[in-house]
Amino acid sequence: MAAAPALSQAVQDFVRAPFRKMLIDGNWVAAASGKTFETVNPATGEVLANVAEGDAEDVERAVRAARRAFDDGPWATSTPTDRVKLLLRVADLIEQNAQELAQLETLDNGKSINESLNVDIPSAAGTFRYYAGWVDKAYGQTIPSDPTFFNFTLREPVGVCGQIIPWNFPLLMAAWKLGPALACGNTVVLKPAEQTPLSALRLGEILQEAGLPDGVVNIVPGFGPTAGGALVRHPLVDKIAFTGSTEVGKEIHRETSGTLKRVSLELGGKSPNIVFADANVEDAVQGALMGVFFNQGQVCCAGTRLFVEQKMHDEFADTLAKHASAMQQGPGMDPATRVGPLVSKEQLDRVTSYLEIGKKEGAKAVAGGERNTGKGLEKGYFVKPTVFTGVKNDMRIAQEEIFGPVVSVIPFKDESDAGLQGHHTLYGLAAGVWTKDVSKAHRVARAIRAGTLWVNCYNVFGASAPFGGYKQSGYGRDLGKHALDNYTETKAVWVDLRR
Ligand code: NDP
Repeated sequence: MAAAPALSQAVQDFVRAPFRKMLIDGNWVAAASGKTFETVNPATGEVLANVAEGDAEDVERAVRAARRAFDDGPWATSTPTDRVKLLLRVADLIEQNAQELAQLETLDNGKSINESLNVDIPSAAGTFRYYAGWVDKAYGQTIPSDPTFFNFTLREPVGVCGQIIPWNFPLLMAAWKLGPALACGNTVVLKPAEQTPLSALRLGEILQEAGLPDGVVNIVPGFGPTAGGALVRHPLVDKIAFTGSTEVGKEIHRETSGTLKRVSLELGGKSPNIVFADANVEDAVQGALMGVFFNQGQVCCAGTRLFVEQKMHDEFADTLAKHASAMQQGPGMDPATRVGPLVSKEQLDRVTSYLEIGKKEGAKAVAGGERNTGKGLEKGYFVKPTVFTGVKNDMRIAQEEIFGPVVSVIPFKDESDAGLQGHHTLYGLAAGVWTKDVSKAHRVARAIRAGTLWVNCYNVFGASAPFGGYKQSGYGRDLGKHALDNYTETKAVWVDLRR
């Protein structure tokens, strides 16, 4: 292991406070119940920090603050220029505090410090900067109706948004949700995941430093069924934006049917990554590794079903297994680490249980296949990068979201077989295809029902490109101009020109 970089004083101070408070109406406050919960460093299993545990009463105060700020505060009368400046300042401050944010993210989530520093934090800043650009460009339209009327549309903010985010990209998910919501003039109650609340709380300080008026963003850490559920049910919340499991997404869908709150859901996936024999093999191997081991496989669009054309299947699986076994595993704070720990003990149990399920189903682990309790890793939540062969597309490990560093390699005969097998899933979040044949790439891109399709690449994102799912991977799109639709209502106005 290489020496971990020294923790910045700011990070030490942040995690060593007796407990981190929540942000309601511009004030950092304890939970109404006085309760706190622990957030754990997954590389060591030790408590990292204590955090105020929000519940229904805290959500009530936060929603009322967001409602006031929406209806009646300086935010309600802010100009587009004010909001542009603010979002740009947030982006700048994230960059200025990148080291501290990256360290917090890595300690809390486990991901490698290189990913935190070079992917998550700059992408979060980039998302705020991108949405600063949309503030004064989300136009309404003039409508060619009866000429005796002037008919046009206004795009108005939806109102108070409850945003519930997961633990796999904590700061980035906060940026994906907050960026478009604030650009469109909404107010927010944000609930970070219980496993990773720290970077969202630090972001709250940054929002204040940037000059965000009180109550516009409230941050209530706590547990899903309590704090999250209270937000979903609250009558003064106009919209819920959720990223997480399909199971909870369905529950939110059911729960909000009573109030018809606006809802956008970004849920699970079991994405096909399809490698044809005419692909550049080295690129495809690297793409497959990146597709499934990035962020320890805790990625909703991970390429976990790796379809490889039959004639090169054995050779490809063998090369992939060698590369997977050679990936450096260790604490995320070690700059040499490529694969860190899973986020929590629950996730460790879940992923290792799937390793056993896969073996019982008859699959063979040609790399990994077990927890890593090597020297220095004994107390952390490490699972070795795992490559399964002998997998059939209808096995549970090929159909259920594992959310860990586990890939199933499955042979296919030809293009039509690849399409059929690729389709065979409840999900439709993303897919990859590797081939030098341009027409084939385009045909497969059209054939697969998924929200994102990568050709000769995988896990590529940009703030300007929409991201979201078909089928049970959810509805609505994050990012791009498409996300503005989640955060605006369209009002048609008719003016009678004869009076
Ligand atoms: P969840 O869906 O439970 O968590 C996501 C967010 O929803 C968290 O903030 C969580 O709060 C909150 N939440 C949980 N229950 C409710 C509820 N009843 N009402 C409102 N909010 C709720 O996912 P898990 O963390 O339990 O992970 C389980 C699986 O979900 C993973 O193995 C993976 O398959 C999938 N997942 C998918 C993600 C994606 O990016 N699409 C991200 C994370 C997980 P809290 O964590 O505080 O309880």
